[in-house]
Amino acid sequence: MTGTLASRISREIEGEIMRRGWPVGEVLGSEPGLCEHYGVSRGVLREAVRLVEQHGAGRMRPGRNGGLIVCAPDSGAVTQALVIYFEHLGLGVQEVLEAAILLEPLAAGLAAGRVDELGIGRIRRILQGESERRDERGVAALHALHVELGKLSGNPALELFVAVLNRLGTRFAATGRAISQDELDRVKLATEERHSAIADAVVSGDRPRAEATTAAHLDAVSGWMTALDPRVDGRRPRLPAVLHGSKRAAGVAGALYDEIVASGWPVGRRLGSEYEVMARFGVNRAVLREAVRILEFHGVLTTRRGTGGGFFVAAPRVGASVDSVALYLDHRGVGPGDLRAVREAVEIGVLGLVAKRWTEPSVAARLAAGPQGPDGLHTELAELSGNRVLAVFLRILQELWERLYGPDPVAGVDLDTAADTPAQVATAHADIVDALLAGDGGVARLRMRRHLAGLSGWDR
Ligand SMILES: [Zn+2]
Ligand SMILES: [Zn+2]
Repeated sequence: MTGTLASRISREIEGEIMRRGWPVGEVLGSEPGLCEHYGVSRGVLREAVRLVEQHGAGRMRPGRNGGLIVCAPDSGAVTQALVIYFEHLGLGVQEVLEAAILLEPLAAGLAAGRVDELGIGRIRRILQGESERRDERGVAALHALHVELGKLSGNPALELFVAVLNRLGTRFAATGRAISQDELDRVKLATEERHSAIADAVVSGDRPRAEATTAAHLDAVSGWMTALDPRVDGRRPRLPAVLHGSKRAAGVAGALYDEIVASGWPVGRRLGSEYEVMARFGVNRAVLREAVRILEFHGVLTTRRGTGGGFFVAAPRVGASVDSVALYLDHRGVGPGDLRAVREAVEIGVLGLVAKRWTEPSVAARLAAGPQGPDGLHTELAELSGNRVLAVFLRILQELWERLYGPDPVAGVDLDTAADTPAQVATAHADIVDALLAGDGGVARLRMRRHLAGLSGWDR
């Protein structure tokens, strides 16, 4: 029960930080003061603070002038947390590309609509860098434009998702089937051409062209990336181990992480005692403990004390990432319009994927049976889409909305205040499912768009 109470208190503390508008560096309260304010014991408060620290929203400063200090969540750590969670799922490259094809054209279009001279300068420098790095092995340089367009979209949620997708994409490209230098040169030249077409559209402020050229480019990328899918070779993809921390500790954390991934993520396997792991990496206890904290933060590893204890492989929980992401995006000032734009793109995209799979007997049977889960049709569609990236993005958007604005309008939790009556929502859902079962993805998407547009609670 302590765990539940502590997590409730951590949410209250985080809610307070959000309401106060992230006064980074300010002391929220001393330990005794916070215990009294929330009416909890020191043990419960410490557990709650540990969660707040894990989510990157604050840290406890010891000492006489100490207390819980508000921190700015770190974009690198949040991106990494999501990448690690996806890594643990053992994603295929297809899932990453499907999500990119949905979200990146939206980002490019938004970027075209608001680009300024600074942004134009950044885009031109990136294109310049691509041609300068043409002889480099690998395709890492080719992701910079995509990530930049995410930033220029001005939508923090979109920026984060695009960054995560590109980090995952780099990983696949770096570890897939080896390709010949000729083939690589061809890919790079074709990509540079496409990139300058996208840049031209964005710089000219031509939104439809920015969207169309980005979509066409990603289709082409999909063609050659699918050929690189590491799963085709029976190898699991690996991340370049970029973990945050001091250099030695991050190095040890990265090496341990790579071991876990390379051995197929065997949850529960013992990696060794503290002494054994220290000896193996030739590091002292302080460095090892920092490395372990990094991995524990990401839920990759857990420590057990006592006889037979040591470090064990753990399974990351999506909940921890969702919490960190929600706080990070709030700190970045994400607005309801931002969430709505991404949410609609993901909902429509998920529906498109289900429409492609509706002939599979299991999909058709589940659709015909109606939604099973408590969250209804939308969650069901995300699951049926078979795309775990999009399902997790949807969950983040939903969680974020609930933390910031109350009940999620799409889930229809708060039907009392919705413009649509429960009966109207049920009819809208049934109409969408009918179109899917008739194999008409186009009409299903149209009906979904109409359903989403009609929901109240979006306009804040
Ligand atoms: Zn590209
Ligand atoms: Zn609905």
